[in-house]
Amino acid sequence: MAKVLCVLFDDPKDGFPTSYARDDLPRIDSYPGGQTTPTPQGIDFTPGQLLGSVSGELGLRSFLESRGHTLVVTSDKDGADSVFDRELPDADIVISQPFWPAYLTPERIAVAKRLKLAVTAGIGSDHVDLDAAIAHGITVAEVTYSNSISVAEHVVMMILSQVRNYLPAHRTVLEGGWEVADCVARAYDLEGMHVGSVAAGRIGLAVARRLAPFGVTLHYTDRHRLPADVEAELGLVFHPTVEDMLPHCDVVTVNVPLHPETEGLFDDELIAGMKRGTYLINTARARICDEGAVQRALESGQLAGYAGDVWYPQPAPADHPWRTMPHHGMTPHISGATLSAQARYAAGTREILESWLDGTPIRDEYLIVRGGALAGTGAHSYSAGATAAKR
Ligand code: NDP
Repeated sequence: MAKVLCVLFDDPKDGFPTSYARDDLPRIDSYPGGQTTPTPQGIDFTPGQLLGSVSGELGLRSFLESRGHTLVVTSDKDGADSVFDRELPDADIVISQPFWPAYLTPERIAVAKRLKLAVTAGIGSDHVDLDAAIAHGITVAEVTYSNSISVAEHVVMMILSQVRNYLPAHRTVLEGGWEVADCVARAYDLEGMHVGSVAAGRIGLAVARRLAPFGVTLHYTDRHRLPADVEAELGLVFHPTVEDMLPHCDVVTVNVPLHPETEGLFDDELIAGMKRGTYLINTARARICDEGAVQRALESGQLAGYAGDVWYPQPAPADHPWRTMPHHGMTPHISGATLSAQARYAAGTREILESWLDGTPIRDEYLIVRGGALAGTGAHSYSAGATAAKR
């Protein structure tokens, strides 16, 4: 019987919800390109409920316990003597979400002698040291596509809110003011701007599709070029490197995984090569951007704005400089954790567990590491080498 250790974010401050803003979710059976949404044998939750917090338990308890497995759920994941560290040595399976990541460092993997499966309930497994997982024969799986559209919508929202100076204008209303000039002195239209995406995978392409009707010119860079008909449909301009693309862009959106090729990519030098007044949107991973370089560029005006939802570490400390730097539109890591997304990644986590426990293959598109090597989606999107989990 397996011990499943699940790290989830805390319940709402006012307690676990007893009612919700809406009564249902739209039914979505497949993603762009045709991949089906998760197909577990069953679910024990109501889609639209809060699943990613401790009391939500990703809807897994009755499923696991009815099969005789043990489920331990905690939000206590960092610091000396955390519940996660105490429970890890005899855990067979670890589950966590990128929004509240249980960092599976080489040190932790070394003590997790029974660990065989690390599931990311969501997308982005850089909180798992993939090299250590490879070395220890741990399978790493994530629920590919489950929240890609959720993030793409968040990116579009953040681009518009930055370019149009929405957040300061909203603050004016909250503070009882009506200072129109103050609100519009930094407000522009997106129409006519050049928007570049670093990577055109699931999220990058979905962002491009959503932005095309705004009358912008779309640019992208990626390791592999999109099919010619997709480029033609969206008027996408391909650049072989990020350095080639940036000088053309008024807005840049980062949609690339964090791995050795992308860690620290946006440093002082790269940002200096952007147009003055570019808006930089990063919902991919914080460490793709150098923390100090972003702050300096906002202070100097080289960047007109920075927005995103990814930080390092997570949760970000109260004195994290990105909380107070000028012209930012940061949120906590939430773009891929809408109730809509939670229903999909909870179902996908259940599907992965069913496959694992029944000894049937996990969908190839969910695999990041298997059998001591990058596999499935991991083999396509990540690169081997010193990977990310630092704590
Ligand atoms: P995909 O795997 O669909 O796309 C990633 C793309 O990045 C691929 O096209 C890949 O290229 C490309 N790529 C990888 N390395 C490089 C590189 N060095 N230079 C240029 N392109 C590169 O991933 P998604 O679009 O679904 O997600 C992207 C990232 O977004 C995730 O890895 C995750 O970190 C983040 N994310 C954030 C969420 C949030 O809540 N904020 C939620 C979900 C994801 P190719 O395949 O052609 O080799």
